[in-house]
Amino acid sequence: MTLSYVALGSNLDNPRRRVAAALEELAQLPGTRCLANSACYRSKAVGPGNQPDYINAVAALETNRPALQLLRLLQGIEDRHGRQHRQRWGARTLDLDILLYGNEVIDHPDLQVPHPRIRQRAFVLQPLFELAPGLSLPCGATVAALLARCPRRGLRKLAGTNSSMAGVQ
Ligand code: AMP
Repeated sequence: MTLSYVALGSNLDNPRRRVAAALEELAQLPGTRCLANSACYRSKAVGPGNQPDYINAVAALETNRPALQLLRLLQGIEDRHGRQHRQRWGARTLDLDILLYGNEVIDHPDLQVPHPRIRQRAFVLQPLFELAPGLSLPCGATVAALLARCPRRGLRKLAGTNSSMAGVQ
């Protein structure tokens, strides 16, 4: 079994409900258990045009699926939420990214792990830190140190949402 951290993001079609539904779907994936999820956060969209804010969260999954298979399973969830893979950084009903897969470094045409943009994104680092305050990337950088250097860009925790379990490493 491998501990993998997955980021969820949505900025279309009731994002808050969509992220909550996606968390349930992650927990149902074959060979996979959801150990914990972060609270939900609201962040300003990065990307083209005037997009609605995003709702973001991170889930800690324990899975026996190889990383590429996990990616395909996540893409199946995205597709069921009507995600169309068209515009890079365009508005989206649901985006699921593998942030970390154990301590592995993966450089495959379809999958780079750790996720290449993890370091610049407070909306990923903050919920990741909430779930695993002592976590390090395979390169040795701690999530805490990356978060301390990362601009917050108006990131806000949503009232009434909480992490389901704290301190998973
Ligand atoms: P995006 O539109 O940002 O969600 O990018 C989707 C594309 O990123 C897909 O074609 C994936 O194959 C690719 N990709 C590369 N690394 C990852 C990762 N760590 N998690 C999810 N998708 C990834």
